[in-house]
Amino acid sequence: DMSKVIQARNLTKRYRDLLAVNSIDFDIRQGECFGFLGPNGAGKTTTIRMITCTSPVTDGDLLVDGKDVRSNQKAIKSVLGVVSQADSLDPGLNVIQNLLSYGRYFNLSSTVASQRAVEALDFFHLKDKANQSVDELSGGMRRRLLIARALLNEPRVLVLDEPTTGLDPQSRLLVWEKITDLKGRGITILLTTHYMEEASYLCDRLLVLDAGRILVEGSPDDLVKDHIGSLVTEIKVSQKEKGRIMATLADLGIGLDDRGDSIVVYQKDGLGALNDLGLDENQLTSRHANLEDVFLRLTGRGLREE
Ligand code: ATP
Repeated sequence: DMSKVIQARNLTKRYRDLLAVNSIDFDIRQGECFGFLGPNGAGKTTTIRMITCTSPVTDGDLLVDGKDVRSNQKAIKSVLGVVSQADSLDPGLNVIQNLLSYGRYFNLSSTVASQRAVEALDFFHLKDKANQSVDELSGGMRRRLLIARALLNEPRVLVLDEPTTGLDPQSRLLVWEKITDLKGRGITILLTTHYMEEASYLCDRLLVLDAGRILVEGSPDDLVKDHIGSLVTEIKVSQKEKGRIMATLADLGIGLDDRGDSIVVYQKDGLGALNDLGLDENQLTSRHANLEDVFLRLTGRGLREE
């Protein structure tokens, strides 16, 4: 099925005793932005590395652009643009030279390479940095240059491992905007992220991994609707009253999420009885549910690396 750019069946990766990816199935469609979420060590990067042919699969099947990663690595790599977590810019070369030398790696003629390099610098707002040393770039500019470089061979699939980790809000927004533009051009985008807001904003569909297994898969909106409902109530609690309130909620059969200095109750688990708990009005805050709620409810752990 050619509308499926990536197909994984029973995909498995074992590092000695550790099952880093434990027999997972997923399909990624042409032109969508697909996210891999999960806590530290869930298997996101390992899955990405199998897709990009930088780590062999232990078991199962993995087709990229219809080709088997076991036997067709060269053809697969030619349709992929990859931005890994490591910053692999060449400090000995200036900004545009970093692009040009990468173009040689794909056997682009120097005319084509310079044309694409100039376009890419323009697209990523780096034109006036072309002749500067890459050491003079900010973190956000470096990240944009890495993405620009990955696009030089006009990939059908762009793979981004934590594209905005460590970036300031302005740089993050610019990267989001550019990723959205690229999606508009029909490029299939795969990304891993620890930012739920990023996944909500960018991803058409995503899956949440935990300990090498898929917990859930779907569109951000559907996941919120199915697992949380549209509303969430946060109960601010003192440590003294927390035990009592949690016990009362448990008695009423209302599920809750203990977030330290607050207790969170999801619409799915029933909000109606909260008013009967004798709580002070200003202890209760209602808000719209979001993907972070889904994530925390499913994994019981924070996503962000501290
Ligand atoms: P993070 O959010 O921290 O980046 P991740 O979901 O990307 O995590 P992976 O990097 O895929 O997780 O790691 C999955 C598991 O495999 C972890 O337990 C990790 O320690 C282990 N692992 C990853 N690479 C190797 C390796 N080269 N050798 C042995 N174990 C590894």
